[in-house]
Amino acid sequence: MNTSGDTAGLQDALEAADPATLLLALVQLTGERHWLETAKPFIRGPMSYQEFMPQPLRAAIRERLREVLAETARSGKPAGREADDALLREMMSVAAGEPVSDQYIAMMREDLTDDTLKSRSLKWRKLPEPAALRDAEVVIIGAGMSGLYAGMQLREAGIPFVILEKNDAVGGTWYENIYPGCGVDTPNHFYSYAFEPNHDWSHFFAKRDELWNYFEKVADKYDLRQHIRLGTEVVDARYDERDARWRVTAQGADGTERKLSARVLVSAVGVLNRPKLPDIAGLASFAGPAFHTAQWDREFDWRGKRVAMIGTGASGHQVGPGIAPEVERLMIFQRSPHWVVANPNYHEGVAAGKKWALANIPFYLRWYRFQLFWGFADGLHTALQVDPDWPHPQRSLNAVNEKHRRFMERHIRTELAERPDLLPKVIPDYPPYGKRILIDNHWFRMLTRPNVDLVTDPIEAIVPEGIRTADGRVWPADALVFATGFKVSKMLHPIDITGRDGRNLREFWGADDAKAYLGLTVPGFPNFFMLTGPNTGLAHGGNQIFMTECGVRHMMLCLRELLESGHRSIECRPEVYERYNREVDALHARMVWTHKGTTNWYRNPHGRVFAITPWRLVEYWKMTSNFDEAEYEMR
Ligand code: NAP
Repeated sequence: MNTSGDTAGLQDALEAADPATLLLALVQLTGERHWLETAKPFIRGPMSYQEFMPQPLRAAIRERLREVLAETARSGKPAGREADDALLREMMSVAAGEPVSDQYIAMMREDLTDDTLKSRSLKWRKLPEPAALRDAEVVIIGAGMSGLYAGMQLREAGIPFVILEKNDAVGGTWYENIYPGCGVDTPNHFYSYAFEPNHDWSHFFAKRDELWNYFEKVADKYDLRQHIRLGTEVVDARYDERDARWRVTAQGADGTERKLSARVLVSAVGVLNRPKLPDIAGLASFAGPAFHTAQWDREFDWRGKRVAMIGTGASGHQVGPGIAPEVERLMIFQRSPHWVVANPNYHEGVAAGKKWALANIPFYLRWYRFQLFWGFADGLHTALQVDPDWPHPQRSLNAVNEKHRRFMERHIRTELAERPDLLPKVIPDYPPYGKRILIDNHWFRMLTRPNVDLVTDPIEAIVPEGIRTADGRVWPADALVFATGFKVSKMLHPIDITGRDGRNLREFWGADDAKAYLGLTVPGFPNFFMLTGPNTGLAHGGNQIFMTECGVRHMMLCLRELLESGHRSIECRPEVYERYNREVDALHARMVWTHKGTTNWYRNPHGRVFAITPWRLVEYWKMTSNFDEAEYEMR
């Protein structure tokens, strides 16, 4: 990258950029270890806003970086050098503000070097014959984040595919959700494909339109549209053993049926797209407009209206502050509160200088991603583990979890200093992370508005004029918003999938108990892969795109094995599937989501956590990066 011509841009960037991230880029460029030692005491965590570095040190980093970049530009040589393992580990530890183990070295090395789709895609050892590739056609169900990524990788590998999408546009959840305030709560510079950074995110946490545009652009850039059939909903898929192919039935928006045949079936349907309405008496009797957040009525004008919203999860947390300033009255019906964390970047725009640094300073983005990876994912893992000797299991799980609790509680108390009466309603009575942590979207400030009521009396019924609570009070409303989540436990619902020997996926799983090996494959279902499948969700933070990238990588390794060996089908062995799920369950048994006193949608009615992963991201990365032929049966 040539940074020499734009001195004003560089100047601006060096001022605006995070000094810890600049320091890491500098060490990566020069191998000068001493910077780490000097800066270490001032880096207390991975977040860019936790900066304690003294000005003279910041200035010295900027000055040295300026020299190095000028020298790189003059020499025309590629920037940077490969850090040895010890240096990489040291850099990661400085970035994280705590010791990072060797486990992360390989993953980080890949991130620093393989930053294009080509470099991250499948390498054939023996290129299959064109006829074999043609015969390997893949049907992908869904053109959201996962389906698009699977398409990109298949295209790179030369395997034909078609993506069937029920909606009339790509983008999945980011297309469907249009409710006011809709956006992401994983930072964008992390929540993006690893090889497709967007240096121009307007905010650290973008809103829906910008996210949807990102996926739209990706579909164009990687020429995926010719493979996508919009308005085409898959109804069922049956595996035909005679020729080892999937027979897929889909329906067009006009009801016309389409039959397809494919060697491989990939589900990329997502998990958060079948709205769940609450089971409340009188639901249909309400006289005004009533809709779910994911089916927001575009025509609905909330200004001057009395709106009742049921649910205070991630969606409700965005809708509430999004409409409160303009409604006449907002009545929020809360069944249980969420833990909410403050993040100073949540509403911040990305300064021009920072964008310049992300785009132009070598390794800046990659190290920034690692900081976010740590701060929003693996660095939180300790906080999720139950310490059996912890004396206050009802309020926290362990010492780190307790620290997080105090941090969040302090924030809530500060925000509600003028309204202490609200504290008993909003401070959860279960440990942090029991439900998904929310980032404070000015929620507590919103609760203090004179036109907002937080109602915690249980709902008894919905009546034509509003909502009646158990105390007999009727809350009159002009409109009802259901921020009540999704039907998650019926994974892949309503698609009917039948594998080998007539094995039906739903029956095989039993009620609400989806399982898979690596979240991807199920015995008896040859050549079938699920992206964002069972136990691959992330509830403590993390980045769902990362999980999809891992899943697709493993799927591609399976396909390589299948095609190079000339077999017609591949499926995981039952004992591998069983062993893996036993491990998942054993890990979950010691984690927050099964802890007494927590309620969440990650568990099925039998108490088994089926939706989210117990692994650190690095562990999932490692497991999915390998292919072990002993785990699969090929025919
Ligand atoms: P959710 O987290 O499942 O929240 C549903 C809310 O509705 C909860 O407060 C729940 O209360 C309440 N509820 C459900 N049934 C009820 C009933 N019968 N009576 C009263 N209250 C009821 O759903 P969501 O907010 O749509 O979020 C779902 C997931 O989508 C999130 O966990 C997240 O993964 C994702 N999401 C992410 C973002 C983002 O910013 N990235 C934004 C939106 C959604 P209880 O807690 O008591 O069950």
